[in-house]
Amino acid sequence: MNTAWSVEFSRLLITLVSTVIFGLVSGYWTVSVVIHSCLYIGWNVIQLRSFERWIRNGAPSSSAPDASGIWELIVQHIYRSQKSNKDRKKHLSKLASHYHAVMSALPDATVVLNENLEIEWANKTSQDLLGVKPNSDVGHKLSNIVRDGAMLALLDSRDVKDEVEIPSPVDQLKTLMVTKIQYGEDKTLLTARDISQRIALQKLRKAFIANASHELRTPLTVISGYLEMLDGDEELPPSMSKIVNNAHVQALRMDQILNDLLILSKLEEKGYSEDRGDTVDVPVMLKSLVSDFQKTKTKAKGTHEIKLTVQDDLLVKVVEAEFYSLCQNLLSNAVKYSPEGAVIKVCWSLSDDGNACLKVVDNGEGIAREHLSRLTERFFRANVNRTRKVNGTGLGLSIVKHIMENYGGYLDIQSELTIGSTFTACFPGYRTQVIESKKTQQAIPPL
Ligand code: ADP
Repeated sequence: MNTAWSVEFSRLLITLVSTVIFGLVSGYWTVSVVIHSCLYIGWNVIQLRSFERWIRNGAPSSSAPDASGIWELIVQHIYRSQKSNKDRKKHLSKLASHYHAVMSALPDATVVLNENLEIEWANKTSQDLLGVKPNSDVGHKLSNIVRDGAMLALLDSRDVKDEVEIPSPVDQLKTLMVTKIQYGEDKTLLTARDISQRIALQKLRKAFIANASHELRTPLTVISGYLEMLDGDEELPPSMSKIVNNAHVQALRMDQILNDLLILSKLEEKGYSEDRGDTVDVPVMLKSLVSDFQKTKTKAKGTHEIKLTVQDDLLVKVVEAEFYSLCQNLLSNAVKYSPEGAVIKVCWSLSDDGNACLKVVDNGEGIAREHLSRLTERFFRANVNRTRKVNGTGLGLSIVKHIMENYGGYLDIQSELTIGSTFTACFPGYRTQVIESKKTQQAIPPL
């Protein structure tokens, strides 16, 4: 037992002994008990009062009550816990100021928003990039300061993480990548990074590719022309004729690459547009495309069988030439990467979620799983050893992906080595049109 409790028990014992002695000597037991109880309780009430006053004044260590016994112990406990609280507070405020210093030094603008999307905290860079003043704008809605449409949509979006590119409200020449992350309960963290330099470099790269492709075309056309002329010359010795033929094939391949690169840079330049294009009668176009393929197939001694299933009443709003290029790329790939005699299924129909989808299914060589995510990269060719034997530029799927992006659609690729591949290009519902008068009686069977 510690000393404080010993003191307290001794005090209680003295009170009891004194009560008994007074009772024995005077014979007034009740009076003795009442008097001694009052003395003991009264003393404790006085201690309690000074203790309460001390606590009310913030329990300063300089004016701790001059108590003894159990009251001295309580005062000591409170004093100690207060001291450790103070130390913890000091440590926390040190941590907080360190954290603020780090956040303020970040090169990205960082803004914390509360559940009403009002600014709770912002770092210094926020002023330079977003025009949010770290002190005076606290409590204001961010949407009143940054009025860009994409930014407002980002703030409204319910996604936990989302990002948009916007021009800086401070300097329209700067482009910002704004990322929104939701955390805790209804808190939002916004970061904005200046990506102007990256955008400028991308533009430079695109312009270089477009210019180089354009400039190379004219000399290449001349070279191809001469090679074509020589290729058919029967007077050439057989050894030369083989070389010329090889050179001619390679010149034609180069021409195809330049052609594809120019198509790609035009697609990139156009970018996404909600209302580009005219209504295209896809069923009619697909039928003619497949029939063209069947014709060339007989010429090339190919024996692929193409099965076409179309929803006759389903049209889509696109630029016809781009849609044609998309179909041709997917169909020619299916033919190129399937063995003779393979069956290729082409289906045009409305999906369950209202998108118009073109599906090209083959049972050809398939693509290894690790290559799937890279197929739409420029010049990427899967299964390199086998693919090299097949004519191609490695740009076809890149073109298809860009076309789909420009129309707000997507390209889905499913494939398994040696089993076959399914390429699905889907256009968003708002681009589709179902013509009642053309409605077919037959339902489209699943592929
Ligand atoms: P390429 O001109 O080489 O065909 P693409 O961009 O059209 O270029 O296709 C990229 C690569 O994807 C091809 O080289 C090929 O390896 C693979 N690929 C595309 N379509 C198919 C398919 N239907 N079956 C198997 N592999 C395919």
